Amino acid sequence: MNETKPVSGWGRYPRTEARVSMPTDLDELRKLLDGGLRGACIARGSGLSYGDSALAPEIISSRDLGHRCELDRTSGVLRCSAGLRLREVLREVVPQGWFLPVLPGTGEVSVGGAVAADVHGKNHHRDGSFCEHARELTLVLASGEVVRCGPGRERSSAQAESAASGKAAGQTLSPGGEASSCGDSENASSQNSRQASGANGDFGADLFRATCGGMGLTGIVLEAELQLAPITSARMASESLPAANLAQCFELLEEHEQSHYSVAWLDCLARGPRMGRGTVYLAEHEAHGELRYRQRRSVAVPFATPASLLNRPGLALFNATYFHWQKLRAGRSSQGIDTYFFPLDGIGNWNLLYGGAGFLQYQFVLPDAAARQGIAEVLRRASAAGKGSFLSVLKKMGPANGNLLSFPTSGYTLALDFKREASLFPLLEELDSIVLDHGGCIYLAKDARMSETVFQQSYPDWQRFLAIKQAVDPAMRFRSAQSERLGLTGAKP
Ligand SMILES: Cc1cc2nc3c(=O)[nH]c(=O)nc-3n(C[C@H](O)[C@H](O)[C@H](O)COP(=O)(O)OP(=O)(O)OC[C@H]3O[C@@H](n4cnc5c(N)ncnc54)[C@H](O)[C@@H]3O)c2cc1C
Repeated sequence: MNETKPVSGWGRYPRTEARVSMPTDLDELRKLLDGGLRGACIARGSGLSYGDSALAPEIISSRDLGHRCELDRTSGVLRCSAGLRLREVLREVVPQGWFLPVLPGTGEVSVGGAVAADVHGKNHHRDGSFCEHARELTLVLASGEVVRCGPGRERSSAQAESAASGKAAGQTLSPGGEASSCGDSENASSQNSRQASGANGDFGADLFRATCGGMGLTGIVLEAELQLAPITSARMASESLPAANLAQCFELLEEHEQSHYSVAWLDCLARGPRMGRGTVYLAEHEAHGELRYRQRRSVAVPFATPASLLNRPGLALFNATYFHWQKLRAGRSSQGIDTYFFPLDGIGNWNLLYGGAGFLQYQFVLPDAAARQGIAEVLRRASAAGKGSFLSVLKKMGPANGNLLSFPTSGYTLALDFKREASLFPLLEELDSIVLDHGGCIYLAKDARMSETVFQQSYPDWQRFLAIKQAVDPAMRFRSAQSERLGLTGAKP
């Protein structure tokens, strides 16, 4: 019996005591779900969500739950285990001329974590989010039942069993019926999920829409089938363009909306006419070149930055220096995949840069019509409060995709990192009001403190999500600290 240990997300806030189980196959996972857990549980991939979405008294790691990575070289369809990291997938598929069509800012994210947050990359305006490239998901419900779901596909339970069972092969289970139960309440869970899914046991695309972006609350993703994109080189042709202020950043992103990848770094502490100055980074896949995936070496931050250095003057100096340095280096270059997509992975433990108390990332999206005004207001408010960030990232986003809790929507997203301190929380509440007033929402994968009211006002499909969650997990077994806070799971543990 493993004991509890302190666990946190990438922001190192909040921290909780949790028991972390690492099942190695479906049998072990089912044993856990069938009475082997002491309370609420949630899946965890690489623990790179910033806040509390992967925190619960019982954490189930997907890391050892299969190592499948099978690519159809002709069609580019990949079937892979959810615990694999995106970098591990790239290492396998890039030499074969295929690429993950959506990549977040770190290659250490797991496939399951990418599905659960329906992550976006620097190409959301062109290619949408991660789950828009998913053809099928295999997941384990709270009852232990294994189901498949897809964007336009009915669920198929029996087939999913045989595909996902691994060591458990040979064990036959009927849809929902003899699947391991999680105690008495879970027998009810199994029956309820069958009732809710209709007489033939089909969830249709609803379970897919709830699971993509559903932060692990519908079940544990075991495998994903993804449509990859073809590439003919592992190099990126990139270009960086300086922008004198926020208006110019927006103009450059609009002007280059045909660019495959685009993102802007902002000096969040510049004021007056220079407010929002920064650098816009664009990139395309090179047409010819080697198909080899090289991982960059990283240097690690040795200790947490003393809080005394993380003040407004220190951060303003960093931002101004970085802006001028990037301006000097502006122009075209050829970069490897790691360097372009995962620049921060070159600095191990960079979350220590914000000091021992941890930090919070505030990422929100505003619809097109309100984005310029709302983002300027957020920057002005944060700067006036003397709060700054090393990393302030602005991206253009394409249309929403209909997944019930997915974050992206047509407009602009801004992400700001802030060291954790008592005076930060009232500021973030003010920023919440600005985001709500401009019709936006806050990204669940980065959130550690949003209120239930703000969540419900900004995620209009939360009740539809909850209805599906209740159908597949009526006893509310899958609960995270975040889902409790946001009122997504009803009862407290
Ligand atoms: C440096 C950095 C850069 C980032 N850049 C971006 C970016 O550009 N775009 C973006 O969208 N996000 C970005 N993120 C956020 C990150 O992509 C998401 O938080 C992602 O969910 C983390 O995946 P993970 O494997 O670490 O999951 P975890 O943090 O372990 O878990 C996150 C959520 O996924 C659920 N989950 C994990 N595995 C499973 C599973 N097998 N089945 C069901 N649920 C599961 C958990 O329950 C939890 O709710 C970034 C994070 C960092 C640290």
